[in-house]
Amino acid sequence: MTTLLVKHAELLATMDDHRREIPDGGLFVKDGFIAQVGPTPELPLTADEIVDASGHIILPGLVNTHHHFYQTLTRAIPAAQNANLFNWLKTLYPIWARMNPEDIRISTQTALAELALSGCTTASDHLYLFPNGSSLDDEIEASREIGIRLHASRGSMSLGESKGGLPPDSVVDSEDKILADSERLINRYHQPEAGAMIQIVLAPCSPFSVTGELMKESAALARKYGVHLHTHLAETQDEEEFCLQKFGYRPVAYMQSVNWVGNDVWYAHSVHVSQEEIAVYAREGCGVAHCPSSNMRLASGIAPLQRYIKAGVKVGLGVDGSASNDGSHMLAEVRQAMLLARLKAGLDGASLSSTGGEILTARQALELGTRGGAAVLGRKDIGSLEVGKCADFIGFNLNRLEFSGALHDPLAALVFCQPVGVDFNYVHGKVVVKDRQLLGLDLDRHVRRHNQAALRLMQV
Ligand SMILES: [Zn+2]
Repeated sequence: MTTLLVKHAELLATMDDHRREIPDGGLFVKDGFIAQVGPTPELPLTADEIVDASGHIILPGLVNTHHHFYQTLTRAIPAAQNANLFNWLKTLYPIWARMNPEDIRISTQTALAELALSGCTTASDHLYLFPNGSSLDDEIEASREIGIRLHASRGSMSLGESKGGLPPDSVVDSEDKILADSERLINRYHQPEAGAMIQIVLAPCSPFSVTGELMKESAALARKYGVHLHTHLAETQDEEEFCLQKFGYRPVAYMQSVNWVGNDVWYAHSVHVSQEEIAVYAREGCGVAHCPSSNMRLASGIAPLQRYIKAGVKVGLGVDGSASNDGSHMLAEVRQAMLLARLKAGLDGASLSSTGGEILTARQALELGTRGGAAVLGRKDIGSLEVGKCADFIGFNLNRLEFSGALHDPLAALVFCQPVGVDFNYVHGKVVVKDRQLLGLDLDRHVRRHNQAALRLMQV
């Protein structure tokens, strides 16, 4: 057995059911799981490893519920900078079609490095193109060197342009091949147990890139093995029109028609939904990956976050793919969620008061980024710092320029002030970031390789 003692945190925010915030707090960890959490004087005095967190605030690691790691190779591409979703996709599909397995590995590590340094301890990724021999295995193997948890979504596209879909035929696959590979990946990698580092998710890309048949078959396969389902839904007005024309349903009704509602399903975005559709999510247990930066970047609209929360819908945060953000800063996304919800409240004429009223608070935004994300991914073992849960935690030194003058409320300062990187990041009791440095990767060398790969993709 290995033990870890974390002591003397200026403040330890548990995000537990009582939202305990413990001054001079700490954790005692056995084999990656939290054995004790409380004020430092109540914890054991020794352990195999001791972390003195004086001057730091500690909170549960952030959970990212939507990303496309490979898109780190195509950030800020001039032709896609000012496009809406459908035009943005049509510009990028041919570039993505040039990727190879090494590109998948390099971009995975770039995204995971950014995520780890900005406080993420569990990341979901959605990979839906497998050109030139690449596979989800490339992503999973590359993720191990970084050391954060991965929910790797086996994405898919089967509805090419010739059949009325959006993507060119060159980037879609046959449905038999998609389903066989999905089953192979589940058998090879999926860990159902508490503390899992890798989980597999089945994730047909979006209503406009797969058939209803593949949606149904994927749902049946996922349920046979008890893995979760993920897709893009109700992201834009264009998608809504596509669904009405092609299927005769609005996006949420289309999901119901292909057995894609339930506790094991979460959707990215869900910007354009009615109150009745929100009620469907709440009743069926569907989760939402809210991606505020991406929705702003692509001018997709503003998701009704407060209405989701009020209705009891599970909501987590996602940075979304790096071609529509164009970064993977998890703490920044928490801040963006708070600010965008406030903008929407203002636009909707919500009643605001000095005590908050209908304003999303910094603590609520952090909840979305921690326990909210865990609920969306179906994880009961992460998202808060409690006995029995995984020792996934992050720390920020409060004595830095960005927090200067904000220590009246250090937890809120993390969200209100300029987003910063973590000083340390532990996943399952193991250090991933120490003294603001990522331990698993030589970043200077990696960035050079990543830039070379990105340049090569642009050469026709
Ligand atoms: Zn996405």
